[in-house]
This record gives sequence, structure tokens and C-alpha cells, in this order.
Amino acid sequence: MQIARVALDVPLHRFFDYIVPETEALSDSDLGRLVRVPFGQKSRIGIIVVLPQSSDVPVARLKSIEAVLRDIPALPADWFRLSEFCAAYYQAPLGEVMLSTLPAGLRRVAPPKARTSQRFVKPSPPQEPPELTAEQKTALAAIAEDSKGFRAYLLHGVTGSGKTEIYLRLVERSLAAGRQVLMLVPEINLTPQLESRVAARFPSAGLVSLHSELTEAARTRNWRAALEGRARIVLGTRLAIFAPLPDLGLIVVDEEHDASFKQQDGMRYSARDVAVFRARERGIPIVLGSATPSLESWANATDHRTPARYTLLTLHQRAVENSRLPLVQRIDTRPEKLQDGLSAALLLGIEKRLTRGEQSLVFLNRRGYAPVLACTNCGWISHCHRCAANLVLHLLDRRLRCHHCGFESPIPKACPTCGNQDIQPFGRGTQRLESVLAERFPQARILRVDRDSARSRKQWETLVQRIYSGDADILVGTQMLAKGHDFPKLTLVGALGADAALFASDWRAPERLFAQLMQVAGRAGRAELPGEVLIQTQFPDHPLYAALVQHDYAAFADSQLKEREEAGFPPYTFQAMLRAESPHMADALAFLATARAGPQTG
Ligand code: ADP
Ligand code: ZN
Ligand code: ZN
Repeated sequence: MQIARVALDVPLHRFFDYIVPETEALSDSDLGRLVRVPFGQKSRIGIIVVLPQSSDVPVARLKSIEAVLRDIPALPADWFRLSEFCAAYYQAPLGEVMLSTLPAGLRRVAPPKARTSQRFVKPSPPQEPPELTAEQKTALAAIAEDSKGFRAYLLHGVTGSGKTEIYLRLVERSLAAGRQVLMLVPEINLTPQLESRVAARFPSAGLVSLHSELTEAARTRNWRAALEGRARIVLGTRLAIFAPLPDLGLIVVDEEHDASFKQQDGMRYSARDVAVFRARERGIPIVLGSATPSLESWANATDHRTPARYTLLTLHQRAVENSRLPLVQRIDTRPEKLQDGLSAALLLGIEKRLTRGEQSLVFLNRRGYAPVLACTNCGWISHCHRCAANLVLHLLDRRLRCHHCGFESPIPKACPTCGNQDIQPFGRGTQRLESVLAERFPQARILRVDRDSARSRKQWETLVQRIYSGDADILVGTQMLAKGHDFPKLTLVGALGADAALFASDWRAPERLFAQLMQVAGRAGRAELPGEVLIQTQFPDHPLYAALVQHDYAAFADSQLKEREEAGFPPYTFQAMLRAESPHMADALAFLATARAGPQTG
């Protein structure tokens, strides 16, 4: 009698043994195959992980596999090692890791009948590759030289410096060698441009995308196309890092610093870190690209005390001739009385753009109307009942909303503490900024772009289309607007409220601020019109802004890393955050205290 050990999606650090039906003699090539097995009262989908000689469970108590799903190829061995690594590194049960990374359509016991056939991303009109710049050639040559085997490259270059073009050349090389390519991007709805660019360059490579906005059926189809090798290029968000790719030959992580590569619930993982592990494990090159690399990656590429773990490649110039970096200026707001939070210089700048028929973007990374509601009498402020954050005032739908945990409530008519009816919005969010600007520039067409106005991909695309076609004069936006788009008429960016990040309790806040400001600055003047960026600040001498004015990421990164090293912060130390939830505060605190004390010795 043959026994199969099966991984199941249960929160236990163990597998389960089943009897293999006589009709299904299994061999080692069946490791990684999906099976349907009975579990408790129901059936479940599992994965064969071992074919053991015997079981610790008495045979009489073993149940039989119900079906071996032979129409799906077995998952490849390196996919197993990837899962094992994640389970160990991120402290998650192996079965859960394996099954939770499968598309939902395959985890279902009775999957709906597939009706449509595979659809690959439609190629737009084919695009002639440009002649490479000298810098691009140097970078490519560096990768070509030793791309046999694992090597991690950090490709650092400002927006528009031609990083994507380098990815495309590498993809071309990989495809020609008969290998598959995995490209990770932060958020798929912000990067349809990349999708069509890749499809235009490689019309017959079977490009599929993998992200959470696909229908279950489409995701299952695309995932299978990857596993079966029909898709030669997979473009996806963080979850795509787990796609099985039997011929994988290259991984590209674009905007590698982006926080959305981190999964924040279920198994917490960093897709960028998993990608580096995967490349090493497969012995293939990986390219991490960014205008503002994460400080972890920067340290890996520049640390001179140990042999650098990553190879640093830099593009200093923009790829398109005559396209210059925007002029970045600090506006010292201390000597001035701001008008609804706006400086005279910024107002004048917007005015000029209006008369010239160009676009301005006012960047404020805080959505809603005001960050908090406050009582003018007793000082009450709208705290979240469920966590430590403040409730943000959203005037349009008249709600208080926690941007941290999602808690919502109606706006109180009076102060819950003292009954005073005069409770006021305090501070400024994008909604309030929008109405202020509408008052000041009644003739202007104003468009707000944040997570509230662009909830779905469709809404987002409509907004982008409006901006692109020039159907807006002033954009009010959060960092959402900063990513991956060329707006030819956008020539002015004003940044408000940036200072908050300089003194935030989150020690990563300055790093994030620098990346965001670089990114919004990169939006200004990408086409033939020169761009200008105005940063309102009370700390114009802060080194972060000084580096920004110079477009000098390296100077900023090196000074931040020095600070981190002196203060004992990552990447020079390790930090783990433990979070406890309980109906009783005391239980949560007791647990955390025990955890902090660590394993008991003696
Ligand atoms: P990044 O990914 O660094 O933002 P891209 O690769 O998207 O940069 O390049 C920015 C723009 O420059 C794109 O429009 C691209 O087509 C163009 N471009 C890239 N490389 C070259 C080149 N060597 N010659 C001319 N144009 C180029
Ligand atoms: Zn009050
Ligand atoms: Zn909350």
C-alpha cells in the first residue's frame, strides 16, 4: 500500500498522511501534485509533499486520497524550497504558506468550470527599441558580464533615466535564452503603462499579469499559464513572487523601495526580499530598480566594510534628450502668514500655470478633509476607539474614519466629552485643500486624486485620462499620483505638510518622505516643458531638503544610514514588531511582556 504525505491549509506545523488509491501509483514526479482529500467532515485541496515508506498513524485510521488532479502539472521543486524558506523565515505553517499562495480557484474543491480560454495581454502597436545611451550601455554590459548564476543588481536612476528600457533589454536576452521572466511592480493599477510597453516589445511572449484585482478565473488561468510555461513573462504585484515558473531566468523588481511589496496581514512577507532569496536559490540574476532605493538595498550595494552584496549600477541622466530635472526650491514659510496653508510663491506659481494653460499639482499626503476633529472648549480630539490613531474627518460622506484600522463613525453633533457644539476640523487634508483652491481659483478645473476619489481601477483610469487630456488645471493629490505616470502639461508641483515626516515617531518616515518628494518631483516637466517644484517648509535648512534640491539621493541615503548606525537602527540591527490583540488590555500586555523577556532559561 502506498502512502502520500499531504500539505493542507491548516494552521498546524505538520502534514497529513493518506492512502494512495490502487489506481493511482505515484512516483517522485508526482511530488507537488494537487490532490483532493477528506479532512474532518469535508474535502480539501492539498499538495503532495512526500511519498513516505510508512506512516506513524495506524493504517486502519488513514483515509484515502479522493482524487489526484492530474491535469495540473506538479509544482516544481524550487517552488517548494521557496515555500519552505518563507515558512521558516516568516514563522508560518508550511501547509498554510503553500496553499495560501495558490490562486483561490485552485484551492476550491469544486472549481467552477473554466469557460474562456487563455488571454494574454494584448500588444499595443509594436515599439522600436531606442538606441541606448552611454550610461544604459555601461549598465547593461555590467549585467551581461557576469549574469551566469545569482547576482543582485541595484539599478539606481531618477525617473525617466531609462531603467525600464534596461529591464526590457534584459527580458529580451532572457527570452532568447529560453527562460521565463518575472517582473514585480508595486501596484498594478498604477502601472498599466508598463504592461502595454512590455506587451508592445514582446508581442508573442505570452505576457500575463498576476494581481489581486483579477477575477478568480483570470488569476487561476494566468497562474497555470506560468506553471505550464506558456506564459514567458509574468508581470505582477507582490503576490506574483509565488508564481511557479519552471524556466525562471530573470527577476526584475521595479520601484523596489515601495512599501506595497510588504504584505501586512496573513503571512507577513517582503516580496522584494523573497525575490532575492528566490534568485539566489535558482542561481539567476535579479535587478532591483528605483530612483530612491530602500536604505536596506542601498546599504547592501554600498557598504564598504564588507564585500557589497549587491552590484550598484547608476543612471545619472534622463534618457530623453533635452529633458532636464525639475528645479526644486524650498519655500521658508516661517516669515509668512500663509493663506489657507498656501504660500504666496505657490499661489503665484499656480496662477502662472493657469494663464499659460499648464497644470499644477498640489501634493499633500493626507486624504480626507482634516486629520482630526477637535473641541474648542475642552480640547477633546477625535481618537479612534479601536487603535491609537486619530479619526480623520471626511466631509463629503460625513464620516470620521480611521486610516489606520478602518474604524468608522458618523460625525458627532457635539463634543462627546463636554457637550460643546463648536467642534472644528483641525489641520488640512486633500478634501479641504480642494475646496480652498476652488475658492481661490474659481475659474480653474480642479481634480482631486487620492484613495477616496480613485477607489477602483476604473475610477483611477478615468481620472488619469482626464489629466492626460488636459481636462484639469489643478490637481490635488496624495502619493498615489506620484507613481508611474507622464503628464505632459504638468509643470508645477507644490508640496504641503512635508515637515510632519521629519519628526515622526516612525524612524522610516524621512526615507519615505524623500522617496515621495523625489517621485512627485519626477512628475514635473517630463516632456519638453521645464518643471518646477516648491516645497513649503519651516525647516529649509534640513539636510533632507538640501539633498532634494540637489537631486542627490546618495547624499541623503548616506547621511540617513549614518544616523541609523549611530542610533542602532536597521539595517544595522534587527527589529521585530510584536502585536497583540485581546478583549482585555492586561492579557495583551502580559503576553507582550513575556515575549519581550524571550525564551526562559534555566
Ligand atoms: P525609467 O524607467 O527610469 O523611468 P524609462 O525607461 O521609462 O525610464 O525611460 C523614460 C523615457 O525615455 C521613456 O519614454 C523611454 O521610452 C525613453 N527612453 C529610454 N531610453 C531611451 C534611449 N536610450 N533613447 C531615447 N529615449 C529613451
Ligand atoms: Zn469638549
Ligand atoms: Zn483605528
